[in-house]
Amino acid sequence: MQRKKLVIIGSGPAAFTAAIYASRANLAPLVYEGFFSGPAGGQLMTTTEVENYPGFPEGITGPALMDKFRSQAERFGTSILTEDVLTVDLSCRPFVVKGKTTSVEADALIIATGATAKRLDVPGTRDGEFWQKGVTACAVCDGAAPLFRNKDLYVFGGGDTAVEEAIFLTKYGKKVFLVHRRDELRASKIMCERALHHPKITVLWSHVLLKVTGDSVVKQVELQDLKTSKIHSHEAGGVFFAIGHQPNTSFLGGQVALHSNGYIRIKEGTSYTSVPGVFAAGDVQDHVYRQAITAAGSGCMAALDAERWLSAEGHL
Ligand SMILES: Cc1cc2nc3c(=O)[nH]c(=O)nc-3n(C[C@H](O)[C@H](O)[C@H](O)COP(=O)(O)OP(=O)(O)OC[C@H]3O[C@@H](n4cnc5c(N)ncnc54)[C@H](O)[C@@H]3O)c2cc1C
Repeated sequence: MQRKKLVIIGSGPAAFTAAIYASRANLAPLVYEGFFSGPAGGQLMTTTEVENYPGFPEGITGPALMDKFRSQAERFGTSILTEDVLTVDLSCRPFVVKGKTTSVEADALIIATGATAKRLDVPGTRDGEFWQKGVTACAVCDGAAPLFRNKDLYVFGGGDTAVEEAIFLTKYGKKVFLVHRRDELRASKIMCERALHHPKITVLWSHVLLKVTGDSVVKQVELQDLKTSKIHSHEAGGVFFAIGHQPNTSFLGGQVALHSNGYIRIKEGTSYTSVPGVFAAGDVQDHVYRQAITAAGSGCMAALDAERWLSAEGHL
């Protein structure tokens, strides 16, 4: 079985930043970039313009940005396997990482498998329909796009994230409708009060989304009032899902400590997980910021932590 000093699992900004740092430190890392687990290149492969990643004043598309990350990692000697990691055995040293067709031993591991934004499966919102043509799952990322300016925007969800996103969107939209299937929000009291008293936000209680329609972009949403069963159509310029994220950790089989919301638990201010030699970076351990730049920053931390740990353990 091939043995590597460092295996990195994932392919978003966190994984490739870790790979850039680790390969420049001569660790010759191996990246499992995934295949079925999500788009190789991570969440940014599903978006068009990225306008807030520093260094690209004109903006850059998500796939073009990730292509640059990948090439930069390869330039310094990172090897890449286009395969999902199915299992890891963290009980032995070196660790054993298994994909569908490969098995690799690793002295250290960086987990950077990201999180998947949950989407409602409603006609009109799917890939090939209006997804990324007015339907998105990240208000902070996409809200400032010209497409959404001075339009009626619809945010779906009832937790803190939904309320935060609705408030954020008031900077750009004409009006923001926060649509929740229940008759009270799950968000904290202070956030609820901010939303309920905001002059540009209307909360639509006990409503669900039935359909999104449009031409080349979103133009209308069809909502149902669950209390009366009445169906209404409304003009809409944007649909924002804010119903949570699912961190991609199932392949860990419970061997690394997680928070109750499924995110990997790390020692504060570091990338150390509960297992010595296993580090975590990016959205898989971050339920607060979830941005490309923060993922990249934590990827850098994980590579530096891994290098120091490998050296202290006598692997270098
Ligand atoms: C629609 C959308 C638009 C966005 N726009 C912006 C933006 O404009 N600016 C911004 O800063 N942020 C944006 N974000 C957020 C940003 O994409 C994420 O914060 C960032 O990509 C997280 O990076 P990451 O490295 O943690 O992992 P991710 O990007 O989540 O990538 C993880 C990847 O790891 C791979 N993987 C998962 N499981 C396995 C496995 N078992 N084996 C092998 N590989 C695996 C998959 O390929 C997966 O795609 C957007 C997000 C979305 C959904």
